[in-house]
Amino acid sequence: MPSQVTDYKCPNCGGPLHFDATAQQLTCDYCKSNFTVQEVEQFYQKKNEEAAATPNQFTQEEMGWTDEEASHLRAYSCPSCGAQIICDDTTAATSCPYCGNPTIVPGQLAGALKPQYIIPFKLKKEAAIEKLKGFYQGKTLLPNAFKEENHIEEIKGVYVPFWLYDGTIDADLAFEGTRTRVHTEGDDEVTETSHYRIVRKGQVSFEKVPADASQKMSDQYMDALEPFDWAKLEPFKMSYLPGYLADRYDISDKEDEARTDERMKNSTVAALSATVMGYDSAVPVRQYLRRIDGQASYALLPVWVLSTKYDGKQYLFTMNGQTGKMVGSLPMDRKKFWMYFFIIMAITLLVSVLIYFFGIAR
Ligand SMILES: [Zn+2]
Ligand SMILES: [Zn+2]
Repeated sequence: MPSQVTDYKCPNCGGPLHFDATAQQLTCDYCKSNFTVQEVEQFYQKKNEEAAATPNQFTQEEMGWTDEEASHLRAYSCPSCGAQIICDDTTAATSCPYCGNPTIVPGQLAGALKPQYIIPFKLKKEAAIEKLKGFYQGKTLLPNAFKEENHIEEIKGVYVPFWLYDGTIDADLAFEGTRTRVHTEGDDEVTETSHYRIVRKGQVSFEKVPADASQKMSDQYMDALEPFDWAKLEPFKMSYLPGYLADRYDISDKEDEARTDERMKNSTVAALSATVMGYDSAVPVRQYLRRIDGQASYALLPVWVLSTKYDGKQYLFTMNGQTGKMVGSLPMDRKKFWMYFFIIMAITLLVSVLIYFFGIAR
């Protein structure tokens, strides 16, 4: 099991380095020096290889963990301050809760677990917070717990693991179509219906159909964050991670395949069905669909995540870290709801009474 962490520090002053979404470079929190991803990559390559190869020094007994805890928790010691960092067994990048230094677990993203691609964060935290505030604005029934400044600050940048599928769907569809014509013959009105057999055959190729590979993330939310701009897909480098959280996949490409196949097949049916035109009705009578080739590549994609507990329920808010597209569910403050309900009732009543009296007075 891979198991040591690397802290990303400024080569000039030793301050914490983080990937700056605006500059698309690594910036030192202290002396504000900038370094390109390539520079930092070179600087840290050896350190990361060593960390990935060094086994974790903490045993289950030392940590006092039960079997259940040991199966999904990992403990690392922070290279900056020496404190223990405890995280999930899927965590690949985090920051030390004691000294705040960005920490990477290179072993989680090395060897067979190495992602092929990454879309670096484009939207920085300040911009994400502004967008979220804008979204909350005007939502009168939103509980105050959601609008509080310090709560919105808790938004976290997460590199979420995704499988990107390429594939070709071979399709053979048939429809039963009708055209109806009404005309008169002498005194009779005649309705003539012609029946057609409509066949559509073809192959549709898909590129980079994403499916999130993290059990922690809701499929529904992650699907809704699309589209991503694939032109900005970069070869994976560890140096894009400092300052963000990152998880490695815990859903295999085989496990996500059925879901993606379904999406590709549905899109194929929709595209071919759209070419069946000029009939009064067209009913599908045959749908033969098969994926004939395909492959998956592994990528980390940027997502801003804010999770809130309200009234015993968990609410999740997510934002595409590249485009700013937002997906989330919001609760309603019941107290506020009833307050507004009674205010509106009272105003309506008052207006009715006034209309009544003015009506009589005239
Ligand atoms: Zn520095
Ligand atoms: Zn630390």
